[in-house]
Amino acid sequence: MEKLTIDHFTLLKVIGKGSYAKVILVKKNDNKEIYAMKILKKKNIEKRKQEDHVLGERNILVEVKHPFIIKMFYAFKNDVKLYFVLEYCSGGELFNLLQKRKVFTEDQARFYAAQIVLALEHLHNHDIIYRDLKPENVLIDAQGYIRITDFGLSKRNVKGTKDAQSVCGTPEYLAPEILLKAGHGKPVDWWTLGAIIYEMLSGFPPFYTQNREELFESIKFAQLKYPVSLTPACKSLLEGLFSKNPDKRLGSKGAQEIKDHPWFLNVNWDTLLKKLYKPPFIPLVKSEVDVSNFDPEFTEQPLESHDPNSLSIGGESIGQKYQDFTYDAKLE
Ligand code: ATP
Ligand code: MG
Repeated sequence: MEKLTIDHFTLLKVIGKGSYAKVILVKKNDNKEIYAMKILKKKNIEKRKQEDHVLGERNILVEVKHPFIIKMFYAFKNDVKLYFVLEYCSGGELFNLLQKRKVFTEDQARFYAAQIVLALEHLHNHDIIYRDLKPENVLIDAQGYIRITDFGLSKRNVKGTKDAQSVCGTPEYLAPEILLKAGHGKPVDWWTLGAIIYEMLSGFPPFYTQNREELFESIKFAQLKYPVSLTPACKSLLEGLFSKNPDKRLGSKGAQEIKDHPWFLNVNWDTLLKKLYKPPFIPLVKSEVDVSNFDPEFTEQPLESHDPNSLSIGGESIGQKYQDFTYDAKLE
C-alpha cells in the first residue's frame, strides 16, 4: 500500500493552535472526506522534551474508541513533522460557546457534563488519566454532541491513586493533590469535572484570580464559594467533586458514584451514549468546510507560515523514536 503523506491532502484553513500543535482543516484527495489535521514539529517537541507525551497521545488515540472521544483516522510522519488525522468537529470549542453565552443553564451544563463523565469513565477503565479537561479541549460536533480531544498530558497505566507524579495541567484546573505533589491518580479528572461544571454555570473556573500564588493557595486550602443560583443537587455534586482529599472525592470509587448522584437523576445513560437526546445547542454550519465556529485569530492565519524550521533537513536525528508512529484505522 502507498505510504500516506501530506501530499494526499488539500489544506483548507487553520482552525487551531495549541502550545505545541497547529490544527488545520483538510480534505483527503481520494475520498474527499474532511478531517482536522494536528501537526507537530519534531524540533519543537524535542526542544521541550515532549517526545513521550506525543507518543502517549498517539497510543491513546489508537487505543480508545468512544462516542465522546475524538476519533483518529491516520497518523503519519516525515523528517520534520508528525501528523494526526482526526475527525473534524465543526461546532468549535465548548470554550467559544461558553464565551458567547457567558453561562449555561443547569440542563445545558448537565448535557455536556454527562458526556464528559462517560468519556472519563471509559478512559479510567483503560487506566488512562486525562489530566487536561478544560473548555478548550471539549469540541462540539455538527450534531451538538461533544468530543474530548488533546491527550498530550494524559498518562497510561495509572491504576492506583498515587501513580502519577508530574505537575501538569492548566493552572485554574489543577487538583490540590497535584499542587501538593503528593502523587495523583484518577480522582484528578473528577476534580476537573467539577471545575468545568462550575465554569459552565458561573462563567469562571473555581477560585478564579489573576494571581497565580493566590490561586494555588485557594485550590489547596480555601473553601469554594458557590453561585447562589445553583440548585441544591448541583451544589451537592460540586461539593463532592471538590473534596480536597482525593480518597474521599466523589468518583474515587468509580464513575458510577457520579452517575448515581441526584443531579444526574434524569439522565438515561444509554440514550445519551446513543446520542438520542436533542442537544441544547446545534451549531450553525453552512457547509462541511464552514469554520465560522472557530476563532478568527486562527482561521485568518495563512496556511503556510514561512518558518525556516520547515525547510530544515535531518530532523530524523533521533530517528528511532517515532518508528511505530504510523497508523491507519482502516487496517485495524
Ligand atoms: P494545548 O495548548 O492545549 O496543549 P495542543 O497543542 O495539544 O493544545 P489541541 O488542543 O489538540 O492542541 O488543538 C488545539 C485546538 O485546535 C483545539 O483547542 C481546537 O480548537 C482545535 N482542534 C483540535 N482538534 C480538532 C478537531 N478534531 N476538530 C476541530 N477542531 C480541533
Ligand atoms: Mg488543547
